[in-house]
Amino acid sequence: MTRNTGYVWHERYAWHDTGTFAGIVPPGPTVQPFHNFESPESKARLNSLVEVSGLIERLTPIRPRPATEEDVLRVHTARHVEHIRSQSLLPLGDAGDGWSPFGRGGYEIAMLAAGGTISATEAVLSGSVDNAYALVRPPGHHAERDLGMGYCLFANIPIAIEVARARYGVERVAVVDYDVHHGNGTQHIYEDDPDVLAISLHQEFLFPQNTGSAAEMGVGRAEGTTINVPLPAGSGNGAYLASLQRVVLPALRAFRPQLVMVASGFDASAVDPLGGMTVTASAYRAIAENLVDVAEEVCDGRIVFSHEGGYSPVYVPYCGLAVLEAMSGIETGVLDPYAFSFENSPAHQLKPWQDDVIAEAEVLARRLGLVV
Ligand code: ZN
Repeated sequence: MTRNTGYVWHERYAWHDTGTFAGIVPPGPTVQPFHNFESPESKARLNSLVEVSGLIERLTPIRPRPATEEDVLRVHTARHVEHIRSQSLLPLGDAGDGWSPFGRGGYEIAMLAAGGTISATEAVLSGSVDNAYALVRPPGHHAERDLGMGYCLFANIPIAIEVARARYGVERVAVVDYDVHHGNGTQHIYEDDPDVLAISLHQEFLFPQNTGSAAEMGVGRAEGTTINVPLPAGSGNGAYLASLQRVVLPALRAFRPQLVMVASGFDASAVDPLGGMTVTASAYRAIAENLVDVAEEVCDGRIVFSHEGGYSPVYVPYCGLAVLEAMSGIETGVLDPYAFSFENSPAHQLKPWQDDVIAEAEVLARRLGLVV
């Protein structure tokens, strides 16, 4: 079965300038200038593969509109929005944590990234497409209400959720975040909101180093609607697929959201410079297939993927293409050229120390079924 999948990309996303940092540190007397890990390459090359594979002709292009200030202020403080706007006048500003540089005009590009996720969400909610992938940049899941961090300027997914609530009558939303880093921004924005379920699968103690534990479960009347699965470094397809089957899918079935948003980062991949996991394109495909299926079961298939991290310029395109094929049900015939090396590693077997973490999160998913 094929589906009508919407697709957002804008050339301006590739023009978001993260300076000459050497990976994550600014150049200096003993640090040779280089590229920031967060560079245009992985995303632009994913878009290139979507075009060259021919998939682009079978997706529905969605032109992103810039987010408005009103959209952004539903989530962020006026102080933060003004900070990004003023930093954007500099040759190289920073989103707030000193690790998130952006060039002149970055404010407008960040508004277009948030707007891309909004446009994808509106297309799904209005029924003009079945589901949608917003290949946006800069990413959003680390952005807090009052602070940009971890390459994120604005919280793209929460901003789109708040548009869905304000204009489309949506009340209950689930966010599934498989980026290798903890979705701290999304968690904190919604930790006291019982109508948004935030699930994050991530590498423990990676970034931020002090958030994302299983003990963070939401606060007050929202207790139980935050679920973290802090997997140990080295986790592969076995741990991710077990987390999906035992935690994510049961939690979505219990919560019954009206819309599912996916923070789609590919930095848990086998060759990511910022992550220590070994996930492959076939597992990303399986995750997307299952999420699309469960969305059909609980919310008429209303699911939106918004791109987050993923820093391997050579491998991210195949992970992203696998997700888009799963969403659309269209096979392009493009094979993962790295499969011969990455797919058969013993690293993919579920290990006992990974199983322990999943078992703990499984309890939270089961408890969610009792409280909602
Ligand atoms: Zn990440």
